[in-house]
Amino acid sequence: MCKLIRTTDKIKTFEPNLFFFDKLNNKSWEISLSLFDLIFNKNKRIPGITVFEYLSILKILFVRNSDSVESLTNSLNLKKLFWEPFTLAVMNTSITDAKAKILFNVLKQTIFSGKNKCYIYQPLNNWNETVIQPAIEYIKKLNNISFRKRLKSVVIKNNHIIRLNFNDLEIDIKEKDIVISALPLNSFSKIFPKNNYPEKFNSILNIHFKISKNIISYFNNKIVGMINSKSQWLFIKTNYLSVTVSNANVFDNVPAESIAKEIWEEICILINKKIKMPFYRIIKEKTATFIQSPENFEKIKKIDNLPKNLIISGDWTQNNLPCTIEGSIMSGKKAVEFLK
Ligand SMILES: Cc1cc2nc3c(=O)[nH]c(=O)nc-3n(C[C@H](O)[C@H](O)[C@H](O)COP(=O)(O)OP(=O)(O)OC[C@H]3O[C@@H](n4cnc5c(N)ncnc54)[C@H](O)[C@@H]3O)c2cc1C
Repeated sequence: MCKLIRTTDKIKTFEPNLFFFDKLNNKSWEISLSLFDLIFNKNKRIPGITVFEYLSILKILFVRNSDSVESLTNSLNLKKLFWEPFTLAVMNTSITDAKAKILFNVLKQTIFSGKNKCYIYQPLNNWNETVIQPAIEYIKKLNNISFRKRLKSVVIKNNHIIRLNFNDLEIDIKEKDIVISALPLNSFSKIFPKNNYPEKFNSILNIHFKISKNIISYFNNKIVGMINSKSQWLFIKTNYLSVTVSNANVFDNVPAESIAKEIWEEICILINKKIKMPFYRIIKEKTATFIQSPENFEKIKKIDNLPKNLIISGDWTQNNLPCTIEGSIMSGKKAVEFLK
């Protein structure tokens, strides 16, 4: 069981174990996020995967820049039950496309670094309360921050940005000033078009079901990885349940109600109860991340046709990490450190 080990006024910490449910074969298991346990502790392994297959995970130590995650193994089980759920969760990209070296960088900092680096942190109630509102409050206290201004274009002279044109605001950039962009890739590429950017994106879908305490009691685990199903990860909170589907392009043109019904049916199979679908809300972002393939990371690496007084940040600008909140924070830190 994914055991709760600590609670502060904002964060809950769980042991580094993950519970999985295979909908097609009606099987469940738990794995440890410690590589040693995963390989050698038979109670913490995926059933049906041999020690030999597990050892092939170590092939990732020798990946080349051009390798996809899929090329790491011939074992269909290891692909389906290990590489696929982790690659989708971390890289929002299928194992066929995902650049293995990026996943390796994540594994190096987590599973390969021992259990202590794999604890699972969840907000006490929700991320809005724990992170987003405190961050907004903090930013509001800073001077000269303008909210809700959309950058429309920039004026460039002698390869330097000299003006930022927002929807209802213009800002002149002085000679020694530096501009830091935190625009997402699809906005950035329109404003600075003279580079070869990744053009294809994958969507991410989140669906939140409002559920009663009674329904919550049917779940034995707070986090569930789903296999052979449309749902990929379930997070059971105090009064709602959130489902994440990465690389969710198949749902791009499907009506919200059909998506909700399909996902709710899968949840009913997991808990082995037929329950009427509760109130739900869907969040679907079609351009959540670019397809994180070796070719697209190469394109990002080669971006150099930019004004001299511009620093770029944002999840997509990192060439060693996947497009996630962590990558975005690291890129912001790097941008600021560059100024020091
Ligand atoms: C549904 C969904 C679920 C996700 N789940 C996870 C997860 O569980 N874990 C994880 O690590 N990551 C997750 N991600 C990815 C994560 O949200 C991103 O990696 C992260 O938000 C990137 O941060 P960022 O600051 O680089 O860009 P963004 O968060 O995209 O911020 C860019 C900002 O720029 C603004 N903007 C855009 N154009 C302009 C313009 N022209 N002028 C001014 N402002 C502009 C946007 O409105 C936005 O506020 C998820 C993404 C989605 C869509």
